[in-house]
Amino acid sequence: MDSLFEYRKCPNCGQDDFEVLFGSDMKTDDFNVLFDYMMEGRDSQEGVEGYLVPGKEWGRHVKCRNCHLIYMNPVEKVSKTNEYYFKAKNTHAPTIRESYLKTAESQLHLIQKYATGKNLLDVGCAQGFFLYNASRGGYTTKGIEISQDAAEYGIREFDLDIEAKPFEELRFPENHFDVVTLWQVLEHVPYPLTVLKEVHRILKPQGLLAVSTPNIEGIPARILRRKWWDIKRLHINQFSTRTLGDILQNAGFRNTSSVSYRGFVSLSILLTMMLKYLNIYEPLKALFNADSIIGKVLNKIMLIYPSSLNHCVVLGFK
Ligand SMILES: [Zn+2]
Repeated sequence: MDSLFEYRKCPNCGQDDFEVLFGSDMKTDDFNVLFDYMMEGRDSQEGVEGYLVPGKEWGRHVKCRNCHLIYMNPVEKVSKTNEYYFKAKNTHAPTIRESYLKTAESQLHLIQKYATGKNLLDVGCAQGFFLYNASRGGYTTKGIEISQDAAEYGIREFDLDIEAKPFEELRFPENHFDVVTLWQVLEHVPYPLTVLKEVHRILKPQGLLAVSTPNIEGIPARILRRKWWDIKRLHINQFSTRTLGDILQNAGFRNTSSVSYRGFVSLSILLTMMLKYLNIYEPLKALFNADSIIGKVLNKIMLIYPSSLNHCVVLGFK
């Protein structure tokens, strides 16, 4: 196998017995070309997204015969993807800001319903939209974000305490946090069980963990199969509500339950996603500029959807 890739045993149960769900016609050179695009910041600006390479089938997806987790195998080496995440430019922050802040409000309601204490850590906090809501809600917040650009945005815009490092590089005391959240993170990390075990260690007894990921058994995934928009280069684990609950339990969490919150998406984001998906975004992208009049109007119109439509949201307790 080419040294750009890394072979994984099942990231949940550790066994190495799987069926291939989707093959792949990607070659090393394809990955390299795309990596260069992404490093130049063209990923989010110009519609060059992992799942939008005409004629290319993204990484080989396999299903563990033991625990049924679906995961990409092999995957690009961690050092390579971390380099991308570290330098990734988040030019879309002004566009997503309003809808992400609204979504963060309903995520916070969920936390307030189940958490007992106020010391909160958000792993992979991106631009800090959720953290900002949590800190306004009276939580003592800490964020970790590997993307330097996203972390800087959260620090600058919301005056948040965000550490711009990979989670593995930080060492928090044992039994430290009341709440740890991982919104749309576990689908990106090659060893999610290791991350969850570390989260378990730093949570206080009875502490709350909240996790969300795309749902491989959701309606869009069932209809679109491998054309589903969340089958993409950087999504290397594909959870269902059941496999997400399983991996939490495997890491030591108890009383796991599947929940849902209200998600908000602006018409601007929805149309951008659809046009990118159909590969006709480029000629129309000026319309979506957050500073243009049309962009502003499209940004104001919010659609509400239940997170369960496309995502798994699972809670667990230490
Ligand atoms: Zn497994």
